[in-house]
Amino acid sequence: MEYPGNLFVVAAPSGAGKSSLVKALLELDSKLDVSISHTSRAPRGQEQNGREYWFITADEFRAKVAHGDFFEWAEVHGNLYGTSRAAIEARMAHGDDVVLEIDFQGALQIKQLFPYAVLIFILPPSWDELKQRLNRRGDTEPAVIETRMANARVEVAQAQNFDFVVVNAVFDTAVFDLKSIVHAQRLKYAAQRRNRSAVFRALDLP
Ligand code: 5GP
Repeated sequence: MEYPGNLFVVAAPSGAGKSSLVKALLELDSKLDVSISHTSRAPRGQEQNGREYWFITADEFRAKVAHGDFFEWAEVHGNLYGTSRAAIEARMAHGDDVVLEIDFQGALQIKQLFPYAVLIFILPPSWDELKQRLNRRGDTEPAVIETRMANARVEVAQAQNFDFVVVNAVFDTAVFDLKSIVHAQRLKYAAQRRNRSAVFRALDLP
């Protein structure tokens, strides 16, 4: 599948700072839009339907899977999550760039469908720091933290299958790194050809 817009996929273990980094990136870049996923998990805290996620039941989720509504979906920490076609197709067809904040299983599925998708993995600077960040959140039970740490080892091992790696040691540096990846991707020949087809045609470029 090919659209004029670029597709960025960001994955990370829980606690690596993915959501804050993506939020900062979006604030700096008006051409970039985040996709709102569907999930079967219940809303947490201040989360609102249609803002952080589309919250649906597990049965509704499975009906959507059967209907082919998702580009990708996966079970993460016991809940179902998926990227709907509707969430990204129209924007990318329009030439806007979309960022998906999803888990590594979803990221690898997206790469199969969209080989030009740019896969970015966010790493914590160390296991100790990851654990401290999970502890600092203050909303997670010790047993859950241990589970997250065990999951993180599985997730981090997938970084080698991604195109780019950003180490989130210093937040501002990591935001700059993300911004650089997005910028460089937009300047690639193939991306420019998709995005600026009129210029390429006018210059008789293949
Ligand atoms: P949380 O429940 O903490 O918001 O998210 C749990 C994990 O699910 C995170 O790694 C998040 O990136 C991932 N996730 C969120 N939306 C999607 C999605 O649409 N597809 C997949 N595969 N993972 C998702």
